[in-house]
Amino acid sequence: MKTPAHFFDLGGTLLALDDHNEIALDEHGRVAILPGVREHLAALAGTPVFVVSNQSGLAAETLDTFRAQLTAGTGDTITGYAICTHPRDAGCGCRKPRPGLVLSLAETHRIHLAGSTMVGDTETDRQLAMNAGIGHFAWAADYFRTSPATSPGSVEPADHRVAGFGRCGEEGADEGRRRTEGPRRQR
Ligand SMILES: [Zn+2]
Repeated sequence: MKTPAHFFDLGGTLLALDDHNEIALDEHGRVAILPGVREHLAALAGTPVFVVSNQSGLAAETLDTFRAQLTAGTGDTITGYAICTHPRDAGCGCRKPRPGLVLSLAETHRIHLAGSTMVGDTETDRQLAMNAGIGHFAWAADYFRTSPATSPGSVEPADHRVAGFGRCGEEGADEGRRRTEGPRRQR
């Protein structure tokens, strides 16, 4: 039996961006969790929730810092992270909008993608949903503006938590059908 999941982009969706479209950090190195995120993630507690992000070249320690702050700020509701840290032009199969990260998570966690939801803030995220066969896509600005719907069963304890970041390792696997990336930022 496969389970539907929610997939979230990171920068611009869960965390605020700075003027350079990088994840914003204050003078103490703290991220800013965007309005509505805590409430919505709390409503999804007990269901599979994944963060899927392109963070080209970002150090593992920095990613750990983001994860720790998100975990502390959202009540430990995120099941797992899948981050592509490959260079933009590496041609890996996991850089969004290529579907590698999502397909890997779906395989590991037995996720029903057609019944799942992707939430993002860029065209890249929308294309990822299409490429991976995720059934629903929501723009972050719309999704987090409304109050989360509360449903029975959404407060069960999570038993599907995973430690650490999912890492992609499919260098060049998707070379034959590389896409020309559009002018919008690819996050
Ligand atoms: Zn990658």
